[in-house]
Amino acid sequence: MKSNHQTLLRDRAYVGGEWVASLSGETFEVRNPATGELVGTVPHMSAEDVEHAITSAQRAFDEWSERTATERAGPLRKWARLIVDHADELAAILTSEQGKPLSDAKNEVIFAASFVEWFAEEARRTYGDTIPAARRNMSFTTVKEPIGVTAGITPWNLPSAMVTRKAAPALAAGCTMVLKPAEHTPLSALALCALAERAGIPPGVLNVVTADRSAAEAIGRTLTSSEAVGKLSFTGSTSVGKILSAQCAATMKRVSLELGGNSPFIVFADADLDVAVSSALFAKFRNAGQTCIAPNRFLVEASVHDEFVARMLKAMESLKLGDGTEAGVTLGPVISEEALRKIERHVENALELGASLLAGGKRAQRKGNFFEPTLMSGITESMAMSCEETFGPVLALATFSDERELIARANATRMGLASYLFSRDASRIYRVSRALHAGIVGINTGMIATEVAPFGGYKESGVGREGAREGIDEFMETKFLCQAFSA
Ligand code: NAP
Repeated sequence: MKSNHQTLLRDRAYVGGEWVASLSGETFEVRNPATGELVGTVPHMSAEDVEHAITSAQRAFDEWSERTATERAGPLRKWARLIVDHADELAAILTSEQGKPLSDAKNEVIFAASFVEWFAEEARRTYGDTIPAARRNMSFTTVKEPIGVTAGITPWNLPSAMVTRKAAPALAAGCTMVLKPAEHTPLSALALCALAERAGIPPGVLNVVTADRSAAEAIGRTLTSSEAVGKLSFTGSTSVGKILSAQCAATMKRVSLELGGNSPFIVFADADLDVAVSSALFAKFRNAGQTCIAPNRFLVEASVHDEFVARMLKAMESLKLGDGTEAGVTLGPVISEEALRKIERHVENALELGASLLAGGKRAQRKGNFFEPTLMSGITESMAMSCEETFGPVLALATFSDERELIARANATRMGLASYLFSRDASRIYRVSRALHAGIVGINTGMIATEVAPFGGYKESGVGREGAREGIDEFMETKFLCQAFSA
């Protein structure tokens, strides 16, 4: 581990304001996906450890929720400032456990801080309503109240931003939280806790429990079955989201689910091709293709297909694959050997079914989980990479020639998270963007995530929204005060 991020690196979990080992004393290792080197060791916790964390969160709830919104906003704002001040250290930790290039890791850390700052502000705007009463001598009002103890489960692909996108609105609303980060990336979550502690967020308000994959199911079950937990906010795969959602039904827990995508990236012949190509490069190869909003199906109007390919190949020459700590690297490793095998399987399947390989297509000749930036054409709907997220640096092209047929194809998936549309025709932009079944439409841009706008999916891409004013509502109940008064 490099000395520049020693201060925030933790080897304990954070429960009840204490840095704790697991009750069993067991630990697990976190390894660098670019080098295989050991980055850190953290507690391997069990259901019993999680029960303790839930109790801590319950104990902390009354004092935290009784604070005014302004009183909660103070330490949250301080937390946001500390995250920005320590962005370099946090980015170094993030890159060492997740692999993305340092500059991308720093962008993610700043993005993570933006949620804390935003929700510190939103805490003061959780207004209820005064409703014109439907009966005489009565007053009708609503107030928003925090749900209580909440649970968060986060993935490895955005190990800082997914933590704050859940914890910040929960805490701002007056809830407390028990959060379990992914097995591959617990260190970023713990480093954020170290700063939350410094910011004065009281003990028990935010708790992070860590475990390797073997305990994920048991921890999930403990969080979802607990009557003390009022809400689960989960980001991860649709398959796990369905399991957790079903488990939450038994106690009628509120759920927010940010799940997988299968985003179409649509390029009409009238688009500015330079904009479409640079947006594709950013949206597809950022984080080595491992984002839920990464375009998965490129649909390019047939008349500009060859031109798009030529410009894309040229643009891809700018990608530099390597260890995220090396200068100039823009494409890091994928997270694991398992992830590499999935990408290989998708590429092989597409080639067997008649696709063409235009660049890349195999593991890079170096140590670590690296896959070459890949461009393929001739993709059809029956290929695996059209049906599920490839989650790797593979840009897969298909063509279309008719707008109606295009919309039907773009929507022919059970996923509905993001979509991208490139055109210069205002009417077409309006028509197509309204017709796409997705929670987010990027129009002539590949940059679509921001703390100020709602993020979430249609269909099996999820339930609820994160960020924006909607994000804090997900952690609040609406209470109707129906009062009679004497005339
Ligand atoms: P995953 O397997 O669903 O894991 C996500 C989290 O759930 C991890 O903390 C994991 O722990 C935990 N988990 C796994 N199985 C569990 C179970 N049975 N019960 C309780 N918890 C369980 O997802 P992933 O493959 O790591 O992450 C990639 C997925 O996340 C992709 O599908 C991506 O699209 C999606 N994603 C969505 C968004 C969004 O906002 N919509 C954002 C980022 C990522 P372990 O790590 O220990 O297995």
